[in-house]
Amino acid sequence: MIDFQLSDEQITLQNKARKFALEEVLPVSQRYDQTGEFPRDVIAKAHKAGLMNLGIPKKYGGPSFGSLDSVLVVEEFSAACAGMTTSIYVNDLGTTPIILGGSEAQKQQWLTPFMKELRFASFATSEPGMGSDVAGIQTSYERKGDNFILNGNKFWITNGNFADLFVIFARQKGTKRHQGLSAFIVPADTKGVSTGKPLKKLGHRASDTAAVILRNAEVPVENLLGSEGMGFLLAMMTFVKTRPAIGAMATGLARSAMEYAINYAKQRDAFGKKISSFQAIQDMAADMYARIEAIRLLTWKAAWMVDQKTDGNITNVASSCAKLVGAEDAMKIVTDALQIYGGKGYLEQYPIQKLFRDAKLYQIYEGTSQIQRYVISRYLFKEYEPIMKNF
Ligand SMILES: Cc1cc2nc3c(=O)[nH]c(=O)nc-3n(C[C@H](O)[C@H](O)[C@H](O)COP(=O)(O)OP(=O)(O)OC[C@H]3O[C@@H](n4cnc5c(N)ncnc54)[C@H](O)[C@@H]3O)c2cc1C
Repeated sequence: MIDFQLSDEQITLQNKARKFALEEVLPVSQRYDQTGEFPRDVIAKAHKAGLMNLGIPKKYGGPSFGSLDSVLVVEEFSAACAGMTTSIYVNDLGTTPIILGGSEAQKQQWLTPFMKELRFASFATSEPGMGSDVAGIQTSYERKGDNFILNGNKFWITNGNFADLFVIFARQKGTKRHQGLSAFIVPADTKGVSTGKPLKKLGHRASDTAAVILRNAEVPVENLLGSEGMGFLLAMMTFVKTRPAIGAMATGLARSAMEYAINYAKQRDAFGKKISSFQAIQDMAADMYARIEAIRLLTWKAAWMVDQKTDGNITNVASSCAKLVGAEDAMKIVTDALQIYGGKGYLEQYPIQKLFRDAKLYQIYEGTSQIQRYVISRYLFKEYEPIMKNF
């Protein structure tokens, strides 16, 4: 049976997130976009409201929300500000490898504090020389006594300057490609760990992005996640769980772009009529709505599959579909929305240019659109069972 009805608890959660987004996030979103300041005060309120660290299990003090619950929250936040949403929900990206690969002792030690106070976790695969090609990580580690010694440079790390801990993906010295990769919990105050200046960005300016430098950083052996050689798998398993949230971010942003554009079209006159009376404008609005419905459904389906723990690569493919179509359609929707604003869409004083700049990132982080297509096409050419066999 297929049921698209949200539970009463999910509707309550969605309403709570919507109220928070409208009252606490939206009113300050332009300011943080313009100043590039880190929105710690807003994030602290989200933490206090129980709308952060959504995936941390109850056992460690967290809300233990499922993936479907989480995408409902994330859509509401990103409708108000994509940058703040990235700042808040990157904690789920950072803590997921611990939830998936950590021992009981590691989970108690590292997850519980996130629920007691406002803390930040960053996830670090990317480096100056690689992003898409996770197996190409160059940051290295070697064991010395009871420690692992990490050396290398991470780049693009969201909330890098504010992180209390990093999950660092590194390769055993002398190894090549996938098998040599391991993941480590690295507290930010570890000797030999430093961060670069905040990177100035096109969009998502309310999220911090920075380099993380590791120079003979000593990490106790107890901080290895899973076993040595599990790093690549852990990174990919994390993305399966977190990519639906990017679909949700894209949905929320696209929804706001559509609403702003419709509102503007109802007020703007051209050729003696409201521009909303022109078929070309109506078509764009209709396409926006249909695409938003489609990306929300893809996102919900992928999130539902994650919650069902559906076996095999098929959940991975569903997550990639949600992220790919979400990112591509959000970019198209916000481009059309800006078009409906005409020249005013190009001005800083209108909200649509911020959405346009913010949307671009969804096609890039957590695996570019090309990488999502690679995941999907690899499935199609290797695993997909055609229905039409005799041709
Ligand atoms: C604002 C921001 C925040 C980020 N946050 C984080 C974070 O918190 N943690 C983290 O680890 N990383 C983070 N990233 C890094 C992000 O994941 C990478 O930028 C992304 O994976 C792409 O890697 P790249 O920039 O090195 O591009 P490349 O991998 O060099 O790719 C360049 C181009 O080539 C294409 N390409 C590459 N390989 C293939 C292929 N096999 N087939 C077809 N096309 C291909 C890509 O799609 C892209 O168009 C962030 C990036 C940004 C911009």
